[in-house]
Amino acid sequence: MTDALVLFSGGQDSTTCLAFALENFARVETIGFDYGQRHRVELDQRTKILAKIGAIKPGWAARLGKDHGVELGVLGQISATAMTHDVAIAMGADGLPNTFVPGRNLLFLTFAAAIAYRRGLRRIVGGMCETDYSGYPDCRDNTIKAMQLALNLGMDKDFVLDTPLMWLDKAETWKLAEQLGGAALIDLIVEETHTCYLGERGQRQAWGYGCGECPACRLRAAGWRKYRGEPVQA
Ligand code: ZN
Repeated sequence: MTDALVLFSGGQDSTTCLAFALENFARVETIGFDYGQRHRVELDQRTKILAKIGAIKPGWAARLGKDHGVELGVLGQISATAMTHDVAIAMGADGLPNTFVPGRNLLFLTFAAAIAYRRGLRRIVGGMCETDYSGYPDCRDNTIKAMQLALNLGMDKDFVLDTPLMWLDKAETWKLAEQLGGAALIDLIVEETHTCYLGERGQRQAWGYGCGECPACRLRAAGWRKYRGEPVQA
């Protein structure tokens, strides 16, 4: 067993990654970023999840260590995206949704590595996935492999960038959570994780809170229905 830093946003994927790390690594720290995202409510949710996840399984609480909050408001300032500004979510001419924040995961991984360097943590765990995703190029496996190489050369380390969800679809991510933490983890993910791009938490759906209409909600809902063996078109 080794030590890990988890990129933990407060969403479904990163909460599953946190459970994965708590199950597999001896000491687990977390990092979260405030970059002016419209769904800043996820930052409140991550605090609640951190307070509860240790109780899901024996041993997890003892492994859960320090949480690092990093202020990256400059990313919101220099980007013009539907993730950081109050504009309608739409598909761009380049085939990418305008929720794509250029450089976001590259920056997140670089800051995570800088903290992992200081804290003596070898593994960096992230929820990037290119199986059932929004087409963000910085979620692709080759991007992560290239970042691992760049960070290791640039910091003279041997970090391992771990992406346990890379080849899972959203239904399989729910299934992995069930395998890791049973019904208690599924309940925690449904109740407390945040996915909705618009930051809505008013309406409780079977799969959790959200507007139900934005691309992130639709992906989460479809994965939930497939995981539950229900018709995907509701
Ligand atoms: Zn939504």
